[in-house]
Amino acid sequence: MDKLRIGTAGIPASTKPRSTANAVKRLAELGLRHMEIEFVRGVRMGEETAREIRSLAEEHDISLTVHAPYYVNLNSADPEKIVASKERIIQAARAGAWAGAKSVTFHAAYYHADDPDEVFERVKLQMADMLERLADENIQIRLSPETTGGPTQFGTLEELVRLGEELPGVYPCVDFSHLFARSLGEFNSYEHFASAMELIRDRLGEGALKEQHIHLSGIEYGDKGEKRHLPLVETELKYGEVLKALVDYDVAGWLTCESPILEEDALILQGLYHELRST
Ligand SMILES: [Zn+2]
Repeated sequence: MDKLRIGTAGIPASTKPRSTANAVKRLAELGLRHMEIEFVRGVRMGEETAREIRSLAEEHDISLTVHAPYYVNLNSADPEKIVASKERIIQAARAGAWAGAKSVTFHAAYYHADDPDEVFERVKLQMADMLERLADENIQIRLSPETTGGPTQFGTLEELVRLGEELPGVYPCVDFSHLFARSLGEFNSYEHFASAMELIRDRLGEGALKEQHIHLSGIEYGDKGEKRHLPLVETELKYGEVLKALVDYDVAGWLTCESPILEEDALILQGLYHELRST
């Protein structure tokens, strides 16, 4: 049995007609196991649709996660923008929970010219407020800020692990492609990938590796970090070594492939994962 459920960021390209409900069926036909619902340009899914997707996903054994809108900055100088950012994350969490999704990821903040430690404290304060709101509304979904792809964005693995230590119930969404791009290609060996899993295990507990939210795809970087996602065949990122580390550390959870050729690359990752698991 697969520990990691692998699938696409949003609707597979070969889904016809294009809808989230049809995407769930298409993923099952393709033999994939997971989908991240992409609310990146706004949350427009109502409760009825979300509940339909939930029952379809259960029927077809497809797990779900959610990506909240891109327009989020918990370190904005404008208090109204912080309120709006939290609202977008909460909306994504609410719709995701209706759909039965396990985790909602988002890019938490920009540093601007601020001291990273101060940014950490501000993000933590806003995260704590969102956790309270989710609890008040009984919205059961995990908040998983994502490791980000550039040096202007809050979200190193260290920052997110620390956030998880200080705010129980928060876990990092590990985007290996972003860690690679952010490091300008340096974070690219089995030892790096294994040390990331060790950091999470040692500081957030073994359980954190059993429900791990992961992003993995090809990526191109420039001197400011992430430029764009690439098909696996074009990237320098050693994704096979990433999968090997995930197998060796017995990681379970949800792996979303954000490739421009979504399902083709998700199937490559899944095939490789199966090979590694059987050796
Ligand atoms: Zn993302």
